[in-house]
Amino acid sequence: MPTSQMVRANSVARALNVVGDRWSLLILSEAFMGTRRFTDWRDRIGIASNVLTDRLKRLVAAGCLTPVTRDGGARSSEYRLTQMGRDLYPTALMVWRFARNWSANRAHTSTLTHLDCGQEMVPQLICRACGKEVRAHEVRYEDGPGAGLTSKAPPRHSRRASAPTEGGGSQTLFGEAVDLIGDRWTQLVLASFFMGIRRHDDIVREWKIATNILADRLKRLLESGVVQRRLYQQGPDRFEYVLTPKGLDLYPLVASLLAWGDRWLAEKAGPPMLLYHKPCGHRLEMAVVCDRCGGDLDPHNVKYEVRLLGEGRRRAAAKAESPAVVTARPAARTRAAPDRT
Ligand SMILES: [Zn+2]
Ligand SMILES: [Zn+2]
Repeated sequence: MPTSQMVRANSVARALNVVGDRWSLLILSEAFMGTRRFTDWRDRIGIASNVLTDRLKRLVAAGCLTPVTRDGGARSSEYRLTQMGRDLYPTALMVWRFARNWSANRAHTSTLTHLDCGQEMVPQLICRACGKEVRAHEVRYEDGPGAGLTSKAPPRHSRRASAPTEGGGSQTLFGEAVDLIGDRWTQLVLASFFMGIRRHDDIVREWKIATNILADRLKRLLESGVVQRRLYQQGPDRFEYVLTPKGLDLYPLVASLLAWGDRWLAEKAGPPMLLYHKPCGHRLEMAVVCDRCGGDLDPHNVKYEVRLLGEGRRRAAAKAESPAVVTARPAARTRAAPDRT
């Protein structure tokens, strides 16, 4: 294969080949809330039947979902998360966390309760070794045993969603977050920033990304307030891109996706990149925990509730800090965790 078709091996890129698509993300997110049936997915995320069929097929092929076979061999319309699929739960929680922190209307529409401690909480990404929250600037990268060149990922999902009007995202709890991360190229560009690759030409070199695609994604990231431009050379003017506080807050999401890619998609040699936590010096092993009690989180000990607030009540509630919590979805949805299989 010509080297122009090769890019550096990277677990984020591998993970994104599987889930770097807004519909796939939404389907998986719904699965964590107990959705299993074709018709339920279709109705809850507003996805067209043919698109849903296609994405379910891809997620099954990738190993994240498995069809539930019924007696009599009838064609299944139910799917269950596999171990690989369930292992994306920390990433889904990090998507939720980002949406909560940055949703445009500050009345976020859902809450998470950790059943083990009984408290409403925000999931947090920590270093297992020292227990501290993981922050973008406190992680050091080294080439791992699987470092090297790899064939450029097929641009399967690059036929994006050129505008976030495709439906789905805005009406779900993830909102803008899905528009930002539910696109493989956008995520790869973001991942570059976290790895210190900030300049246009360097990003092109790293991912062999077409310049028109890069221009489009950079524009989108600028508009979302995730990055800002900084002049680093005059005449001709050249800019680099710097993450804003909002952009830096995407780190736990990118990092958890990377960890998932390392676990499930690394080649025999091992992970392409090794991460070290600077504050404690240990190899970074990440965990997503409850910010109140520090306990581990899984789909079975987290309760998800949708909060319904009218315009007036929303304002009053924001002041009073005691919003009326209504379970807006059927009971099955608030607490129906996927079966352990
Ligand atoms: Zn640490
Ligand atoms: Zn807790």
